[in-house]
Formats: sequence, C-alpha cells, structure tokens
Amino acid sequence: MNDRSDRQPKDFIREIIDEDMRTGRYEGHVHTRFPPEPNGYLHIGHAKAICINFGIAEEYGGLCNLRFDDTNPCKEGEEYVEAIKEDVRWLGFDWDDREYYASGYFEKLYEYAVELIKMGKAYVCDLSPEQIKEYRGTLTEPGRESPYRNRSVEENLDLFRRMRAGEFPDGSRTLRAKIDMASSNINMRDPVIYRILHVAHHRTGNKWCIYPMYDFTHCLSDSVEGITHSLCSIEFEDHRPLYDWFLDQLGVHHPQQIEFARLNMTYTVLSKRRLIQLVEEGYVDGWDDPRMPTLRGMRRRGYTPEAIRNFMARIGVAKAESVVDYALLEHCVREHLNRIAPRVMAVLRPLKVVIENYPDDKTEMLEAINNPEDPGMGTRKVPFSKVLYIEQDDFMENPPKKYYRLAPGREVRLRYGYFIKCIEVVKDEKTGKVIEIHCTYDPQTRGGNAPDGRKVKATLHWVSAAHALSAEVRLYNHLFTKPNPMDVEEGKTFKDYINPDSLEILTDCKVEPSLAGAMPGERYQFERIGYFCVDSVDSKPDRLVFNRTVTIRDTWAKIKQKVMGGDRKS
Ligand code: ATP
Ligand code: MG
Repeated sequence: MNDRSDRQPKDFIREIIDEDMRTGRYEGHVHTRFPPEPNGYLHIGHAKAICINFGIAEEYGGLCNLRFDDTNPCKEGEEYVEAIKEDVRWLGFDWDDREYYASGYFEKLYEYAVELIKMGKAYVCDLSPEQIKEYRGTLTEPGRESPYRNRSVEENLDLFRRMRAGEFPDGSRTLRAKIDMASSNINMRDPVIYRILHVAHHRTGNKWCIYPMYDFTHCLSDSVEGITHSLCSIEFEDHRPLYDWFLDQLGVHHPQQIEFARLNMTYTVLSKRRLIQLVEEGYVDGWDDPRMPTLRGMRRRGYTPEAIRNFMARIGVAKAESVVDYALLEHCVREHLNRIAPRVMAVLRPLKVVIENYPDDKTEMLEAINNPEDPGMGTRKVPFSKVLYIEQDDFMENPPKKYYRLAPGREVRLRYGYFIKCIEVVKDEKTGKVIEIHCTYDPQTRGGNAPDGRKVKATLHWVSAAHALSAEVRLYNHLFTKPNPMDVEEGKTFKDYINPDSLEILTDCKVEPSLAGAMPGERYQFERIGYFCVDSVDSKPDRLVFNRTVTIRDTWAKIKQKVMGGDRKS
C-alpha cells in the first residue's frame, strides 16, 4: 500500500512499541497478527483490528500474520476462511505466505499440555461441565478445588493420552490447568485447557477428538509464531494473566499483549452473535446485505477500502470504550467518492417534461464534465431532446417561499443544457396528480447562461426520455432507528429497533445512456442525489440495479461545524 495519507498519529500502542524499539526489546522487531475465528464474516469492528495489526507492522517495517484461531470445529468452516481472506485483501492488506492456523499447532499444543502435566501444573478432571461451573465460584466468592485436582502425574498422563485416543465420550473429562481456585480473577481458577469433542475439524478432519480451548491456544500460537506485540481488543485484558501464566510456566517466547477498545458505532450492532440473528431471522438478505456492517455488506454498498482505512486513522486507538458516530464513516466515504466517482445524471422519481418549441426529432449531444474535482476524468456527451424526465420533487404547482425549483411560469436551468420555463401542467383527470409538464426552452441559453444576463435560481438534473435507461435503485438507510440499539427497554430486544424504512426500492428510475455497460461494483455520483454503486449481485446489462452508498448531504460536516466551529480537522 503506497497511500500513506491514512497513517495514524501516535497512540498509546505506538508509544509502547517506540519504547520497545528504543530499548531493543525483541531485537527491534515488530511482528503482529490478525487472529480471526473462522466462524463468521468480518465486520467493521474487525477492520479496526486489521488496520491496527497490519498498519503497525507496516509502519515499523515488521510483519503481520494472518492466523485463523480455529479451535472450535462445531462452528467453523472453510467458507469463512475464504471470505475472511477476501475481505482482508480487499481492505488492502497482504500477509504474503504467512497464513497460519491454530489447528496447525495441535500437535505442538498437545506436547505443551503434556509438559504442564509433567510439571504438575495440569490435571485431568472428571467433573461434568455443570459441576465445573458450580465449583468455579463467583465474582464475590472463591471457587472450590476439584476432587481430581491431586491426581498423580502418571495417572494424568495416562488419562490424557487415552482422552486423545478416543476412549472417553464427549464431556466426560477435561484437562485443566492447576492454578488457583481462590484467585480474584475467575480466568485463573483452574481453567479447562482441553475438552473431548468427537467432531471433525475443517482442516484436521478426524485426527483429533480432543480440542484445545481458545485461551490456551491463542497465547501459545502467538508464541510459536514469534509474535512480538499481541494487539487485541479490551475483553482479553482479564485473560492476560492466564496467558502470562502459560507462557511463563512453559518458558517459551513471550509476546507483549496490549489491549485496545473495541469499535462501537451508532445505529448498528457489531457482534457476530447478533449479526447472525439478523441474517438467520431474515431481517436482512444475507451477510452481504448492503445494510450490514460487514465488510462484504459495505463493499456491496459501495464503500471503498480507502475510506474505511481513513476512518480508522481518524478515530485512532485508545483504551477507553467509546461509540463512534456512523456519520463519520459516511463522511469518509463521501470524501473519497467525491474525488474518484464520475458524476452522471439519474432521475429517481421521473416526471415527464415536454419542451414544446424543441424540434420533434432533434437530438443534441451536450458536453458534461465527469468530475469537477478532477479535470483528468474528462467529459462525456449527454443527449438532449424534446421529451425529458426531471425529478418529481423538482416541480411544485404551488411552491412555498424559498422553493426555487420549477413551478408554473418559472424558469430554471437544466444542467449542461438550456433554460426552460413551465407553461402548462397536465394532471391525471381522476387523481389530480401532475403527470406531465410542458415547457419552452430558450435556444440562446445553451451551456447554461442567458446572453441578456438574466438569472435563474435553480439548476436541475434531467435525462432524455428517448435515450434514458431504466434502472432499479435501492435506497438504504440505517438498519436501526436508535443510536444505541443495545440500550433496550424492558421486555424488548435490539431487534425491536430495526428500522422499517431501512430499504426503499425504486423500480422506475431513469439514468443517462452513458451508464449502459456499467459494471458491478462501479461507483457514481448521481448529481444532486448521492453516491451509488452498481449492485454486484442483481445488476445485469439489461437491468441495471444501483445501491445508494451514501447521500450527498454530509451530516458529519454539519455536526462538526456545530461542535467545533467547522475549522478544525475531525
Ligand atoms: P464478535 O464479538 O463480533 O463475535 P470476535 O471477537 O468473536 O467478534 P474474532 O474472529 O475473534 O471475532 O475477531 C478477530 C479479532 O478482531 C479479535 O482479535 C478481536 O479482538 C477483533 N475484534 C472483533 N470485534 C472488534 C471490534 N468491534 N473492535 C475492534 N476489534 C474487534
Ligand atoms: Mg473472539
């Protein structure tokens, strides 16, 4: 990645690493990893962890591994592995050949467990899962020691070997670390490190019927890979003493774990467990639904990886929990698309306009600018003819004050075209609804200015009816109605705050003919309306489908202006 504009300012993690570099800890190396569990699709919260881990490695000339923490064969699968790789790559990061799997260390982890047993630091326990829970105690009461805690090393070695050999049923025995049942940290109360599970694993097949627990696996996988800085989210802070214990008992390479706050955002939920419910219960159309905060959802919606990385740089890294305004992410998307997306004209809710004094069979090709922000993007021709479409809400029969768009007797400018003046309104006889308006145009105003210097107060976008392409446009809004959908009233769940208007589908839109052949994933600004992306699933050459990526109106810029006077960088 050469674009360094998203480089982050110094935060507490980078300060720690600077100090380690200064003192020569880890011989001046920085080696991080991103460790997803392949049991779901990545969301914007994961993108924060990805940007931190890959970003820091890159900045310090180090390396970042991609490691799948695949210790739970019941919920994991190859489908997720491939999807995660695709998403990390899309975000703009590369792990070269450093793609690892915790399951690749199962043999090594088994040996570490045997070593702990030999040191008298682990034992086979016959308590049932329920009993283990019961013996564990609570936050305020200490736990009780298992009656199997003092088995001999020989007996433990024999039982653990037979657990591996498949002699015992699921749940009948576990291997536990022998630490301290009275510890104030519940994670230290003889945690289970191996369980029996006669289930095939997506990578190791039926080789194993015992599986290491996440906490045991995670820290030792980091150690095996020579990770220097194990950067993870704050919920692992309480697990750090346990990780330290495993690493110190075994006397192996000891990475420095540093925890940072999880990303939370307004109007969304960021937890696989809840996102799964939205998918499985049909609130959205899958993991890649453009309303989902997943990376594939955002990609389909039209967000760019550059915008997401820029967003991460702006929110920075801290230890304290906070909730980031969704509008900031949208602001970053808008800012990037403003630079790279070509402008086109599209009419979402068409109203027919007949220009009475324009020749019936004439078509003019008018020059339009592709992106005023970037002259290098050139120009294109848009056809103009007698019958056009404009937006329904760009006309009002009885306009209120401050409505400057088209109205009876009023003149406006058509973008790249002429001044037109409304002379007649045609209504549906039954409903009274305006179905067509008739105008005249002033041939002298081609290009948008009147030689006599008269002014108009509005410029409308339009398309030529004979040349326009039909399209479906999907307008997306927040998935939840409440900034914090997890703040639930009694008797409700987060699902009670799903926005019934999160998707509006317009099937009768008209877009300019230059969009013929628009490819899935391409992004455009529809002038005056917003940024749109060609849907990668449903759009076909003969039936264009666009997703609204983000509106034109920048609520974040507004908030910023209110809060900070608008002159500071966000
Ligand atoms: P979830 O809570 O959504 O189920 P998870 O933490 O179980 O996610 P993992 O696959 O374990 O999912 O996540 C991989 C990495 O991403 C972890 O190191 C985790 O710390 C980090 N991560 C997950 N969610 C967030 C978030 N909201 N903000 C920052 N980092 C996150
Ligand atoms: Mg996790």
